[in-house]
Amino acid sequence: MPNPQGLKPALLLTGSGTAGSRALPTAHGISSKLNIIRASHLCKFPWLVHGFSTRGGGFSRAYGDDALNLGFTKDDSKTAVERNRAAFLLELGAVSKRRKALRRADSQPWPLVTLRQVHSDIIRFVDSTAESQLAGDGLITAAPGLLLGIQTADCLPIILVDPKRRAVGVFHAGWRGTVKRIAEKGAGEMRRRFGSRPRDLKAAIGPGIHGCCYEVGEDVREQFESQFAYAAKLFRETAESDPVREKYPLLFLTARAPGHSDLPKKIFLDLVEANRQQLLAVGVPPKSIEASPLCTSCRTDLLFSYRAEKGRTGRMMGAVGIKG
Ligand SMILES: [Zn+2]
Repeated sequence: MPNPQGLKPALLLTGSGTAGSRALPTAHGISSKLNIIRASHLCKFPWLVHGFSTRGGGFSRAYGDDALNLGFTKDDSKTAVERNRAAFLLELGAVSKRRKALRRADSQPWPLVTLRQVHSDIIRFVDSTAESQLAGDGLITAAPGLLLGIQTADCLPIILVDPKRRAVGVFHAGWRGTVKRIAEKGAGEMRRRFGSRPRDLKAAIGPGIHGCCYEVGEDVREQFESQFAYAAKLFRETAESDPVREKYPLLFLTARAPGHSDLPKKIFLDLVEANRQQLLAVGVPPKSIEASPLCTSCRTDLLFSYRAEKGRTGRMMGAVGIKG
């Protein structure tokens, strides 16, 4: 399976009707099918429904053909988003089968619970759809027949599952939520509500913007440094390239002392590692954390990226639920 980072794909990409993995669409072979990314370590629980949506296989026209936009954005039609959500739930298996006369099976999608996401550390416990449209950035439940969804287009969607207590959660982690320790607090809330022990938790970090592309300001680095002892290893710096200097280095030879650059630095944040560190810090075992190797900004053929598409893009969904 080729992928641009050369990493072993820890998360499987599965498509219509397939139980296991299938080939990742390459950068040149864009798949128009509805593909869902699933974590291999979560696929073994028959009572669990989970997955991360991708770009294709939907009904939206606002972001290229057949886009599976799952968020009510201003550019897209409400009808298209509703059809996309229904298709996503069906493909995920978040449906109740009702046997009708003449042995015709009819499937009813589960209620979908989403949040008005505000880059906070607010985590909502839900056990019915009555709590729908709350503000916050994390959802947890132990109630069967509900699908919890977090919408993203660069931020990380993170799923936590406690197989012992049959409890689940999904969280929205951009840099703000990460500084506020949303993943760490998610594990804490699951402990408080369900008695989940961190060593039992399984985590799946879905696709988001990676360290290759996630340029941030010095202020962001300062906030991480004030919060985390391991902050230094989350950032990478490069000197900003200057095409004129690169093309005619001799012109500038006398202007700078060797080894000294007055060019501004670019700072990149590794959000996946930041969240992995939080999960490890609370006691989630390393082998229980899977992360997608796909960067949204590198792979707009397959995913939505708010940054790469300058704000005009769709929303993906990380979703989790418990079968009844
Ligand atoms: Zn990238």
